[in-house]
Amino acid sequence: AKPVVAIVGRPNVGKSTLFNKLIGSRLSIVDDTPGVTRDRIYGDCEWLNHNFLLVDTGGIEPYSTDVILSQMRTQAEIAIETADVIILVTDLKCGVVASDMEVASMLQKSNKPIVLCVNKCDSIGAPDPEFYEFYNLGLGDPIAVSSVHGHGTGDLLDEVVKFF
Ligand code: GDP
Ligand code: MG
Repeated sequence: AKPVVAIVGRPNVGKSTLFNKLIGSRLSIVDDTPGVTRDRIYGDCEWLNHNFLLVDTGGIEPYSTDVILSQMRTQAEIAIETADVIILVTDLKCGVVASDMEVASMLQKSNKPIVLCVNKCDSIGAPDPEFYEFYNLGLGDPIAVSSVHGHGTGDLLDEVVKFF
């Protein structure tokens, strides 16, 4: 069976935008309103002769902070059980927030391979100082990505396929 790679992270960090960029079509709905992604959406992805199944995750309810956190925990638990590699997506424009820390520690304890994506790094060149905060998540080197422009997606996939 193909390896499974799950994309997890807070609402609105750009998971669906990244998913669509990586699979090269628009299967997943991108929206400014948190919570528009259906529960789980699957797409085929290929990189350096590796074929794998990419999974986008999200919630379906109108969000409150509590609902966001409980859905994130559930998505992270499902990803830990079913994925071979997990991409945790975070948002440069928000910095590291408490729920990032919580999910990062769940993922860390799972011993699954994790790739840390810092999305919305839209400008090319030296990363913003805020970028270095993401080392505090304890998941190794963050990868700077702009899912809108496509910058950094190759570096991200290089890290993912190293775990296959
Ligand atoms: P999700 O809830 O994590 O699936 O996030 P979405 O993919 O729906 O994106 C939420 C919002 O962030 C949308 O308005 C996207 O256009 C925007 N977005 C996603 N990726 C980027 C990026 O790399 N740069 C910028 N500036 N905005 C982004
Ligand atoms: Mg989404």
